[in-house]
Amino acid sequence: MIEVDWSIESGSLTMYDVSENTIRLVPRRDYDWEGRNWTAIWCYFCVRGARGKELTLKFLDLTDEWNRKPSFSWGPNTRPVYSYDQQTWRRFEHIEYAPRSRTLIARCRPESDTLWAAYIEPYPTARLQRFLEDLRARRADAQIGSLGASVNGRAIPFVYLGSQPSRRHAIVVCRQHPWETGTSFAAEGLIEFLASNAPEAQEVLDQIAFTVIPIANPDGVIGGGTRYNALGYDPNRNYDSVSIETCPETYHLLRMVESVAQSGQPFVIFNLHNNNQETGDYIVGDHQPLAGFSIEHFGDALARHTFFRGPVRLRPEPIVSVFGRPLPMVLLELRTGYDPTLGRYVTYHDQKAYGAGLARAIYRAMVSSP
Ligand SMILES: [Zn+2]
Repeated sequence: MIEVDWSIESGSLTMYDVSENTIRLVPRRDYDWEGRNWTAIWCYFCVRGARGKELTLKFLDLTDEWNRKPSFSWGPNTRPVYSYDQQTWRRFEHIEYAPRSRTLIARCRPESDTLWAAYIEPYPTARLQRFLEDLRARRADAQIGSLGASVNGRAIPFVYLGSQPSRRHAIVVCRQHPWETGTSFAAEGLIEFLASNAPEAQEVLDQIAFTVIPIANPDGVIGGGTRYNALGYDPNRNYDSVSIETCPETYHLLRMVESVAQSGQPFVIFNLHNNNQETGDYIVGDHQPLAGFSIEHFGDALARHTFFRGPVRLRPEPIVSVFGRPLPMVLLELRTGYDPTLGRYVTYHDQKAYGAGLARAIYRAMVSSP
């Protein structure tokens, strides 16, 4: 008998039913605090009992609401992933998308009794815990701590690497939105590069201190959410009015940023996000968030060191202000679907390599001349 289970960390679905070898699945809608602006991108579950069968997965009701209008995150280029061991993930090869009914059909013949499936490769907090334990054992100088407690009282881990006193500080924020697992893989790749003892990495750390937040929204990640924290607040919105009650995740992030600002160290916040399958890469910021740092120069460096080839969108005003003061922030959006530069669907190895390349690009843009 075929069964579906999502009682795992980051597991997510609303319901399913099975008829012969066809499973109908409804991804969970992640609603904001007003019960509006829902997204149903993320899903992650386990199928048991389908070994050797012609399995059909029918994903239903693939609709979102954004700015109070219908919006669609899944589409003809969406290709969920599957795995037999949660280590090696592959994209489903046989996909059909029906635009009228907003339904996606994925077919496969499982080689194992247990098949895991997800929107893209999962990155649960348990993986981050193992990664941080390993880092702690390898690099005594890496400071590993917590920004503060999330809505549900969970730690929000950060990693600090740098020589004291550093000339500049890069704050890298990942995974404010739980489905964007590529950003946590990028954080891992970035930290691995910095902690590698390679002369190039030391050269970077001699000039720039890094504070990296691999999972900025742990409640959302553990609960299998798509966008919001446990109270339905978007951690990447309303920086100006954020409160410790409604969005402690962003509140604690801003307190950390404030302490860096008070130290007088010049800094830039790199805020990493993922696009769904249908849209492209880009970075956004104002022309010069920090003296000597040009976002165009950073975009060029990112294209030289990673598979990012997207446009640089300049804003006349800073993208984020807190109590009237502009925050030097650059927003980075990266694909998780088919990438024309790579000529294939992005994997988590690509996201990790992007993180290592991002460290090099930050160095070029913050320290060396164009
Ligand atoms: Zn995002």
